[in-house]
Parts: sequence; structure tokens; C-alpha cells
Amino acid sequence: MNHHDKSVDVYERLADALDALPSGFTRTPSKVETELIKLVFTYEEASLAGQLTRSAETADEIAKRVGLDEAEVTVLLESMIPRRMIRADTLALETGVKGLGKVEATPGQEPKAKSVKKYRLSPFLVGWFESYLQESKPDSKRFSQLYEQYVIEGGGERIFAPRPGPQGVIPYRGSLKPEWLEREPHNDIAAHFQRYDRFLVIDCVCKKEQVACYGHSCDLPVKRCGFVGMPPMVPLSENVLSREEAMKLWDGLDAMGTMVIEGFYGFTMGAEAPQFVGGCHCCGCCCCILNAGRLGNLKETIQRSNYRVVKDYEKCHACGECVRRCQFFAHIFDKAADDKPVYHREKCVGCGACGMGCPSHALHLEPVSEENWFHVPSSFVEWEEARLRNMGSTK
Ligand code: SF4
Ligand code: SF4
Ligand code: SF4
Repeated sequence: MNHHDKSVDVYERLADALDALPSGFTRTPSKVETELIKLVFTYEEASLAGQLTRSAETADEIAKRVGLDEAEVTVLLESMIPRRMIRADTLALETGVKGLGKVEATPGQEPKAKSVKKYRLSPFLVGWFESYLQESKPDSKRFSQLYEQYVIEGGGERIFAPRPGPQGVIPYRGSLKPEWLEREPHNDIAAHFQRYDRFLVIDCVCKKEQVACYGHSCDLPVKRCGFVGMPPMVPLSENVLSREEAMKLWDGLDAMGTMVIEGFYGFTMGAEAPQFVGGCHCCGCCCCILNAGRLGNLKETIQRSNYRVVKDYEKCHACGECVRRCQFFAHIFDKAADDKPVYHREKCVGCGACGMGCPSHALHLEPVSEENWFHVPSSFVEWEEARLRNMGSTK
């Protein structure tokens, strides 16, 4: 198949196509983003991917539209799925099915509706950025350096700033009242661990990116990302853990006081409705999203939870654990306040990490007011459309 059309810069076209997605791919003056693309996509891959959008299409539809052979297009599309450059969805053909629902039958059942495989362009983040760094490749260092340059040149703006954010804060287990969990079931981490028998836990790619770039990172363990539920028949392995092992690892990470975030309330990871489908234990030192937010480069990055900490200064004995735990510098030691850390509510993203670590029970989460309540979109499509509506403001 010959995709070489000299009148088109396929890498530029792909960068624009990625930027048009609800997840965004900020264009920079130096065009460092096209260098990132060139490390990941071959010419043929970039040529085809750059002609896709967020609208899911069959291989036949794509082939006809771009003037190529369907069989060759299918092979190329399928080869890009594992590297998360292309996202495949099986769409229900019946009307009235919301979002990008999967309709395959569960084992032993007939399919509920005729289904057909459709393809769409997958975003940079969460997408091929993570996939590329997950496997250590010879170009990982170069990729990481380009990524750092991309962030410095404002690369995060269209990705992180528009609301609803690309990732959401999930408050710590034990920090929310049962009635609050009922109102927002996507915060129910304990229920997630009861729903599945197996959990996929992968390496923190942000930490890997730091190591590739600088040769070192923080002391937190590398295996702390995902915890995505798996069916019981998936064999146990280094990355597929039993419920007991996964919960033990999760408990250990909780005790370290990192922040739990997840791919946007499960939608970006295939959920049909807002649901906890897995999460990362993130640290501000490695995570690009937390970093951009806490250093004040962007006003909003991660989607805050609907809770904020309330502090009882009477109970505080200035141990400093909250200062250590808060990834957003919301607790700052202050000589003028009897050396007790002063809590800055405007910086709080509502993770509950400080409260769970406070030995004096001086900190707890409370819901934000109804007028400030963030209503989680009910589907992936609704999330995408809300993002697209709000993206103009970041240009
Ligand atoms: S999101 Fe957090 S835990 Fe996941 S890869 Fe990034 S820093 Fe690591
Ligand atoms: S962890 Fe609790 S007791 Fe320690 S400094 Fe913070 S608020 Fe005070
Ligand atoms: S103040 Fe506490 S709840 Fe708020 S962001 Fe910091 S650690 Fe999380």
C-alpha cells in the first residue's frame, strides 16, 4: 500500500487530528509534538491515523473514505490498537444505545444485538503516551525528553485545563460517609475490590518517564497504577493479582499517602456509566497532571472531587504529616500560627490523604456547596461533548 502523498505532511495532519479530539494535543511553536508523533507512528500509520476522528467508523467506511483497500486498512488499524494509537469499539447497531457500549454476550449467552467493530483515533494522553512508556524502548529517553520539552512549551494546556478534566480525584477509602458514596458510586473503591477477583496492576509510566529522562525519580514503588478489574479466568501473573494481593498492595500505597486518581470516572477506560474501574496512586513528583497543577502552571488540571478538607486547629499538634502527604501544598508550616501548618482550602483537590494520615483527627472531608457541585457526565459521549464545548476557552 502506498500512502506517500508528497503534498500532505502526514505528521502535521495527525497532530491536528489529535488536537481536535476532546482530549486535545496542544500545538506548540516549536512543533515538538510532531517529533513525539514521529517516534511512535510510522509514515503509513501516521498517514492513516491522521485521517481518523473521534467518530467511530468501520474499516470499510474508512477504506472508502481514504481511497485504500479495506483488508490493508484493517491490518494497519488492528496493529495500532495494542499501542493505543487507535481505539476500537463494538457499537450496538440498535437505536437508543447510549455511548460506546459493548454488546458482546457474556459467556453462554446470545449477543443482545448485532455488533460491528468500529475504529476511532485514540488520544495522546491517556492513550499512546502511556502505552509507549509502559514498555522500555531504546527511544524511551528521547521520548521522555521531548515530552518534558512539550510540557515546558505549554503542552499541557489543552489537555489538562478544559473541564471536565482528563482525570479525576477519588477520595481515600474511609474518608467519605456511606451516603456520599451512594450519591457518587464512582468514588466507591471498596465496592470495586468486591466486584472482581483479579486486578491488572501496571508500572507508573510517569515514574518511568522521570527515570528515563533524569536517571532517577522519587522513592515510591513503580508498581502502583491501574488496579483494573479482570475476569476470574485471567491467569495470575506478575501484573495480574488476586483480590487479596491487590488489596494488600493498595493498602500499602494508601499508607504512603499518595493521591488516588483515575481515568475519567471509568469512561476513558470503557465504562458505560460513571464507575470506579481502576486508579493510580500518584505523586506530585512524577505525575505530569499533578505537577502542572501544583506548581501553578495551570489553574486547574486534575478534576477535583466534590469534597474539601476542613481543619480543626485545636486538635492539631503540628506533627507535619499533612504537609508531607498533600501533593498540592495545601498545608504549609507557618511560624505565625504556632508552627501549626496553615490549611489553604483553595489548593485542596479533595483527595482525603491528609485526613487519613492525621494522628489527631484534625482533618476531615466535607462536601462542597450545591452550587459548586461538579455533576459527573452520565456517559463518555457526554464527557467528550462537554470537553469540546469548553475547549475554546483554552485556545
Ligand atoms: S497517573 Fe500517577 S500513578 Fe499513574 S502513571 Fe502517572 S504518576 Fe504514575
Ligand atoms: S497531620 Fe494533623 S496533627 Fe499533624 S500537622 Fe497536620 S493537622 Fe496537625
Ligand atoms: S489538603 Fe488534603 S485532601 Fe486536600 S488535596 Fe491536600 S491532601 Fe488532599
